[in-house]
Order: sequence, then C-alpha cells, then structure tokens
Amino acid sequence: MELATVKPELLRDLSRLLRPDQVSASPPDRLSYGRDSCSKGILWVRDNQVKFPPEAVVWPESAREVAKVLAFASERGIPVVPFGGGSGVCGGTWALRGGISLDLKRLNRIVKVDGARMTVRAQAGINGELLERELKRRNLTLGHFPSSIYVATLGGYLACRSAGQFSSLYGKIEDMVEGMQVVLADGRIVELADVADCPGELDLKELFLGSEGTLGVVTEATLRVHPQPESETFLGFSFARLDQGLEAIRKILQAGLKPAVVRLYDELDTVLFSSYKHEGVEPSVLDGLAQILNPLLHWAKDASLKLALKRPALLRQAMRLLPGQCMLILGFQGAAELTRAQVARARELCVELKAKDLGEGPGRYWLKHRYSVSYKLSPLFDAGLFADTMEVATTWNNLRNLYDRVRAAISRHGLVMAHFSHAYPEGCSIYFTFLGYRGEGEASRELYDRIWAEALKACVAAGGTITHHHGVGVLKAAFMKDEWGQAMDWLNRMKRKLDPAGILNPGKLGLAHD
Ligand SMILES: Cc1cc2nc3c(=O)[nH]c(=O)nc-3n(C[C@H](O)[C@H](O)[C@H](O)COP(=O)(O)OP(=O)(O)OC[C@H]3O[C@@H](n4cnc5c(N)ncnc54)[C@H](O)[C@@H]3O)c2cc1C
Repeated sequence: MELATVKPELLRDLSRLLRPDQVSASPPDRLSYGRDSCSKGILWVRDNQVKFPPEAVVWPESAREVAKVLAFASERGIPVVPFGGGSGVCGGTWALRGGISLDLKRLNRIVKVDGARMTVRAQAGINGELLERELKRRNLTLGHFPSSIYVATLGGYLACRSAGQFSSLYGKIEDMVEGMQVVLADGRIVELADVADCPGELDLKELFLGSEGTLGVVTEATLRVHPQPESETFLGFSFARLDQGLEAIRKILQAGLKPAVVRLYDELDTVLFSSYKHEGVEPSVLDGLAQILNPLLHWAKDASLKLALKRPALLRQAMRLLPGQCMLILGFQGAAELTRAQVARARELCVELKAKDLGEGPGRYWLKHRYSVSYKLSPLFDAGLFADTMEVATTWNNLRNLYDRVRAAISRHGLVMAHFSHAYPEGCSIYFTFLGYRGEGEASRELYDRIWAEALKACVAAGGTITHHHGVGVLKAAFMKDEWGQAMDWLNRMKRKLDPAGILNPGKLGLAHD
C-alpha cells in the first residue's frame, strides 16, 4: 500500500522536541496507528487498505513532553490524535487529516495509592489490567472491568466514558474519577481538582470526560478505589418473556439493591449463551435451548449462514420460532452479610415475576469466560461475514420502545441479538450485536454503513442516546447533531475556545471543523 510522503522537517522538528527514538514515520508504525478496533477499519484492512494513517507517531514519556508536542502542533496547525490502547470501536484514533499520532502508553506509572483516602493516582497510559493487578496486590480494586481490559488504557476509559462489567455497583469511569490532569492544545498543563477539595466549584472534569481527545489530552487521573470484595454470589433466572426480565431489573434497582453485574439476554442471545454447558444448571432448560443453537453455530462454519444473511426476511421469520425464554444473570459483591440480604431480596423479586431459578451456574460460567469472546471475531470475517456491536441507552419508560425500534432497523439487513446491562434506577443500556454478510469489497462496506445509519436513526427517533460507553468517534459523528440539537453549538464554541487551531483529533465527536 502506498503511503503519502512525510515532510522531513516534521520528523526533524519532532526529534528535536523529544528524543529521536520517541518518533517514528516508518510505514509499519504509520499503518498500525491508522486504525483501532472498529469493524469498518477491519473490513478495510481485509481489502488491503488503511485509510487514515498518521504522518508520524510519537511516544512522550511525561506530561511535559505531551505539552511540548501540543504547543508545537498548535503553532504549526498540525493535527494530533491521542492514542491509548487502540481498543476503541468507533474510529476515534483514525488520523482523518494525517498529522501526529500521540501514543500515551509510556505514561504508565501508578503515582500514588492513598489507603486512607481510598484513591489511586495513575498516569493515563497505564493498561487497565495492569492497574487492576497492582491494586489487587494491595487488596484493593477500582471495580472497572470492561471486556477490553487487557488492551485499553486509563486515558481511553476517561476519553470515552467507559463502562465495566460491574458498573451497576461501582459506576462508570466518570463516577470513579476524583481529579484529572489535562494538557490543553496550547501546551498548558491543568489540574482539574476534586470537587470535594473545593466545594461549590463547577466540576470542569465533566467537560473533558468523554471528549475523545478533542478538547485536551488526559495525562493523569485520581480515582476512587474499594476493598477487594469479601464475598461474591451469582443468581441466574429464566423469564418466559423479555418484559418480565426488564421489570425484574427495574424493581431490583429501584428497591435500592446494588447488584454489581446485571445481564438480561434477549431470546436469541439467551439461546447463544445457553449453548454452553453450565455447571450446576438444570440440564433440561439449557440442553433444550442448545439444541436449537447448535445448527446456528454450525451455520457460521458453512455456507448456510451466509445464505440466511442474504435473506434477512427469512431470518426474521425463523427468529419467531425461538423458545421465548430470556436469561438474567445477577452478581452481588461486598460484605458477606450485606450480600446475603441483597441476594435474598433480589431472588424474591424475580420469583414474584414468575422467574425460574437457574442457580449460580450461568453467572459463574459467565465470570469464567467473560473475556473469551473479545478479539475473536476474525473467523467470522474470514467466513465472509461482518459483526459489530452497538450500545445505546434510555430511561425505563422508553426501554422496550428503543429495543424494538433499533432491533427492527438492524434485522432488515442481518441477524441481531441484544443484552441489557449497565442498569440504573433511572434506566438501562442495551448492547446489540449484529452479523451481516459482507460479500466482496465495496458492497460489504455499503451494507455495514446502511445498518449503522438506519440503526442510529431509529435510536434517535426513539429518544435513546447513541452511545452509552463506546463513544462517538467517526462512526456515530453524523448523528451527534440529531441527538444534541442546539447544544452542539455550545460544544463547537467550547472547542474553538480550547483549541483555536483545531489540532486536537479533528473530525471526531461530530464537532465542526473548518
Ligand atoms: C473486544 C472489545 C471489548 C470492549 N468492551 C468494552 C467494555 O466492556 N466497556 C467499554 O467501555 N468499552 C469497551 N470497548 C471499547 C474500548 O475498549 C473503550 O472505548 C476504551 O475506553 C478505549 O480505550 P483505549 O485506551 O483503547 O482508547 P483508544 O482506542 O486508543 O482511543 C479511544 C479514543 O480516546 C482518545 N484517547 C485515548 N487516550 C486518550 C487520552 N489520554 N487523552 C485524551 N484522549 C484520549 C482517542 O483519541 C480516541 O478518540 C471494547 C472494545 C473491544 C475491542
């Protein structure tokens, strides 16, 4: 693949700002940093294309070095794209206008663990799993376990408002953060203090959380930590109808219970999940479901899934034959007595809604295999299919409406399933997984784009938010103005004020770029 030539002055100047070994314009580096984990990028790579490589990659080792690069780039009008682990799934790290990819991974130190205040201060490039392991050694936890934990960085979490699998207890990343250090486009390093230290102040952290590198580069953060849980219990239930499962979650959360894990699978997702063997689960329920699933799994290996995906109308009819059972997994953690009391009340609420008790098996199975599917999509792409996920959210009174409308939009073109997780007293997020037949070249990308456009349109029309925790990047940028309306104007004004030269991650978040 041909790469545009890089001006030698750019490399020379960057090598003077940093050390020469902290700068690269080698084709492998530029190609690697021109992508993230977005399925659209994977489709391009399979067609031998990396559409948006940067001109250079730099590896700063301190906030001061980040500041030097940003001040230089602002002066010259060179785009800078912050890069964490590259696990983002929305094209957030694509260098749409070339420029510099700023890899934060060498800012990877734990600065301080404060056992009295129960906080950790860490640099933004630290890997999520390594941070959690260090805390575990001290009998602590951040409680943040996204499926991408082995790849993602703290800075990426903060930039995308990430949610972990235990979010219903510990919160999303924005609920955990007490203070942040951010480098602005002009190179100023600012400390955004904990509001508890300065009561009454406007919390400016909110501006940078979820800003996806468009307003500043996060270099350090202080986060709340918790003791390692004393006990952990899982519950599993099967509901005859999805609505009963949703009602159960709503009642549990609104009763003030705090499950760490909440996962309600819709009918198809239940069938897929149940095809695995769970220890201690009544064989009759799951074996029955597994029998329906097995042909589906085998489909992926031969031509029949492709054929089915080419005929979505038939697939929709086939989905009507599903057994209609929906599985709910609940996980409780914490002090043993508290956990026991919560488990008992949650069980009562589920049984009142006619749930069938499946015991701990499904939850224990999920816990053991919860990272197993991550990064294993290649065989599907090899088989000529594509897969992707979409996470949306809304309030309880609108949840079923949002689910039905987005699901209908996607199922016009492919196979779609969903689970409901990240639940709150006010509402819940829906995590759709979809599969399409990619065919060859341009046709596959057109279908992929059509699915996303129609699903996001349906989401906005149904009053949902287009992202719960993956962010916006490029993939959802066009729909920001539909969701945010007038407020997009304020965001654009803020962007111009904080980044007058427009160098920070241009083209992302749906922000205007001149
Ligand atoms: C298999 C898989 C599973 C996933 N599961 C989850 C999940 O359970 N929960 C979840 O929330 N997400 C999940 N994701 C999405 C992704 O991991 C998150 O969005 C994560 O927060 C991105 O972190 P990163 O370090 O990889 O960021 P990157 O992909 O490198 O960057 C993402 C965005 O953040 C910006 N950015 C990165 N670092 C900084 C910084 N220091 N300062 C300013 N901007 C910065 C980038 O410019 C880009 O716009 C998953 C992704 C995959 C591939």
